[in-house]
Amino acid sequence: MNADEAERRNLYDAEQIPRREDLLGMTEEVIQSMRKDRLEKLGFFEEKLDDFFRRAGREHLPWRKARIGAYEVWVSEIMLQQTQVSRVIGYYERFLGRFPTVVSLAAATWEEFLPYYAGLGYYARGRNMLKTARVVVSEHSGEFPKVVEVLKGLPGVGPYTAAAIASFAYGRNTVAWDTNLRRVVGRFFFGSKKADIPFSEFEAAFLLPAKELNAALMDFGSAICVARPKCGACPMKAKCRYYRERGSQESGIRNCESSLRMERRSEQRRWKDAQVVLFLHEGHRKYYSSKKSGYAPFVVPASHNTRAGIKDWFRRKYGLELAVRPPHGRVVSEGKPTLLVNAQILLGKPDFPEFGRESYERRLRRFFGRGMSA
Ligand code: SF4
Repeated sequence: MNADEAERRNLYDAEQIPRREDLLGMTEEVIQSMRKDRLEKLGFFEEKLDDFFRRAGREHLPWRKARIGAYEVWVSEIMLQQTQVSRVIGYYERFLGRFPTVVSLAAATWEEFLPYYAGLGYYARGRNMLKTARVVVSEHSGEFPKVVEVLKGLPGVGPYTAAAIASFAYGRNTVAWDTNLRRVVGRFFFGSKKADIPFSEFEAAFLLPAKELNAALMDFGSAICVARPKCGACPMKAKCRYYRERGSQESGIRNCESSLRMERRSEQRRWKDAQVVLFLHEGHRKYYSSKKSGYAPFVVPASHNTRAGIKDWFRRKYGLELAVRPPHGRVVSEGKPTLLVNAQILLGKPDFPEFGRESYERRLRRFFGRGMSA
């Protein structure tokens, strides 16, 4: 690495950016050794990536030509959005056979375009292709712009596609950060695909030309560092932070999800043993009470706390057939998990004191006033 390259990589520490005050008090020797470590790590990353790309890059893909036009890159990138590479190959070749240039595409009607696109789905994407072709012809003399910011102004062209066109077709040093790239860089340098990557600093520090870097990272991310990474077969594992930490940051995410699942399960178990407070009513005008002395809803034991169980309990105890609603509240009443349930009588003559809606509402307020827990 020459002095210029070393300077370009006047690197931040991808794992841990040292603050100025952290550097105070360190000897020059320590600072130099930290810097050397960082440089070595990035150097290692690019060297292994480059090796992999030379050995196993997907050079057979029709859009991986040494010299490729912006139109061809754009067609491939738009088709590859949300669609598998193997499906796109046939479409790409047929499409370019029929519309070999942006001018020929711009002159096509939707009806002419559709047979060469139908099946790829996302038809808004297809409509944007036609719009973009027309804009390129009418506003850019039939040539795709070279500047990323201008490319991003074309219909359906986002930052990733713009960067891919600029690098693959025009050799610009723009890194196309798609999910593959983010996953590989995030894991290797930071230990997680969800890492917050300082993109511009990376762009400045990479030495491989963006055209090669983008292609190599795309291929590496779809062959080795996939969703379930094949770390055992990975040439980068010796310095990969994800590998060193055994993926703990990402499995931490999973752990978090599984602990939430466990909490949910224990919550479900808790309510499985809940008693039922049942408000028996007729058209929400009359409310039946289990006591004569004042309005009191019915208490059904936990052993009968399903809708079928409640019906069975009322049938046996009072000879009534009920229509039972799902619980509308969960409270802890006198230390017991309690489900609040409404029900109406379908068959049978009730022999209970009757009260008005305000008694029901007052009772309900008392329950919730004690603290609703769900
Ligand atoms: S060691 Fe595993 S996580 Fe790290 S770059 Fe390789 S495949 Fe990805």
